[in-house]
Amino acid sequence: MKNVLITGASRGIGAQCARSFAKNGYNVWINYFKSEYKAKNLYSEISSDYPFVHLVKADVSDPVQVREMFDSIGEIDILINNAGISQTKLFTDITDEDWNRMISTNLSSAFYCCRAALPHMINNKWGRIINISSMWGQVGGSCEVHYSAAKAGIIGLTKALAMEEGLSGITVNCIAPGVIMTDMNSHLSDDDIIALKNDTPTGTIGTPDDIAQAALFLANENASFITGQVLGVNGGFVV
Ligand code: NAP
Repeated sequence: MKNVLITGASRGIGAQCARSFAKNGYNVWINYFKSEYKAKNLYSEISSDYPFVHLVKADVSDPVQVREMFDSIGEIDILINNAGISQTKLFTDITDEDWNRMISTNLSSAFYCCRAALPHMINNKWGRIINISSMWGQVGGSCEVHYSAAKAGIIGLTKALAMEEGLSGITVNCIAPGVIMTDMNSHLSDDDIIALKNDTPTGTIGTPDDIAQAALFLANENASFITGQVLGVNGGFVV
């Protein structure tokens, strides 16, 4: 049974990944930070059907907490770097604190987690790293320069690490979601959502399960020849 760690899995996309991986026979570690109540509810929901699920609390923007998290859970075969925050601000209003919080949560976290996960994967000659970027990391989002920069950094990290780890049997890929209905988009009005649907070729907004299915595909044994890629799951919004 393969061990999968999903960062930021108390809610939204990460929570759906946890449900889907548990359902598909993986041993799932749910990382959470602030949403303890939601993480515990998710754990109860999943464990009522699938016993191989665990909770681990850590702020993944903190390298010490990431190290402690890996020490407590042990060897991970599949790492999904999903934890993230968003913020909408004019570029000229972004403070040093905003910038540092964005980069540490959305980019450095992936560095810390990959660094901790890789020794076991390299020894084992097998691993899957799936990083959750964003279509704004591909094309840039107005009033989200720090978010876009962090998500573009995730794409660079993915491509370079894939080059380095290919011979070790480890694939490193990126999913770049479009607009997915989660708490992260709860500020959008009904009119905003209609406008976004109109701008999307499929005429729809994505669901957390759209991302979970893509992650399951990339984690699969059969996806071993796919590495260093950015898989857009965005209804065609960005091509
Ligand atoms: P969400 O519903 O707001 O959930 C964010 C998750 O990240 C929560 O589980 C949260 O955990 C966790 N998190 C935040 N900071 C953390 C930290 N320092 N340490 C550990 N966990 C942390 O967001 P989502 O929509 O599911 O987004 C998931 C990922 O997809 C993010 O990387 C996001 O940028 C990306 N994405 C989302 C969309 C979208 O439209 N929704 C589009 C493109 C990309 P706690 O609540 O427990 O702190």
